Amino acid sequence: MKLKSLEISGFKSFADKTMIEFMPGMTGIVGPNGSGKSNIIEAIRWVMGEQSAKDLRGTKMSDVIFGGTNKRGALNRAEVAITFDNSDHYINSDFNEIRVARKLYRTGESVYQINGVESRLRDIHDLFMDTGLGRESFSIISQGRVESIFNAKPEDRRGIIEEVAGVYKYKQNKEKAQKELSQTSDNLSRVADIIHEIE
Ligand code: ATP
Repeated sequence: MKLKSLEISGFKSFADKTMIEFMPGMTGIVGPNGSGKSNIIEAIRWVMGEQSAKDLRGTKMSDVIFGGTNKRGALNRAEVAITFDNSDHYINSDFNEIRVARKLYRTGESVYQINGVESRLRDIHDLFMDTGLGRESFSIISQGRVESIFNAKPEDRRGIIEEVAGVYKYKQNKEKAQKELSQTSDNLSRVADIIHEIE
């Protein structure tokens, strides 16, 4: 799996559509302070389902929409799309190329797409789960995060390792199955009570 490209439009300081193509090897992004380097990383986190406005240095999610400058008015929509080369099928999908897109309007309307098909946030999370790109993964380490990882509680640090090792998905499935078992057990007790009353 390789990161192929990133399209950003109306997101934070990127008012105009900007396309970044990632070439083989290492990519460095350089620029003066305030030129938008961190905004690019935040665009990647956002399109992959980031839900915390605070972690995107805002107070509400609509803060990611280009808010205007003294030369240009605010926009009403932020859009980011990320494309992965998946010819090795590292991401659990039959597609050789995966394009994930997210749009947000000032009205609050929000859309996710996987290869052009409207999807739920959960589908996005499932897609990246166990790839090392998921939520709370080590793949993106923002400013200040290194220190917070060092200072994290052992159980939180273990969560990070579990995500990277691919255990997280199974833990989630186990939790879901346990909930269903508990619900079924409640239902069975109720049925037993009814049978008891009838007898
Ligand atoms: P540094 O090197 O100081 O860390 P940087 O290159 O990482 O800087 P960013 O933090 O990515 O820069 O960009 C900050 C700029 O983005 C600021 O000028 C800020 O005004 C602008 N910005 C952030 N959110 C928005 C928004 N919603 N609309 C317009 N501009 C925004």
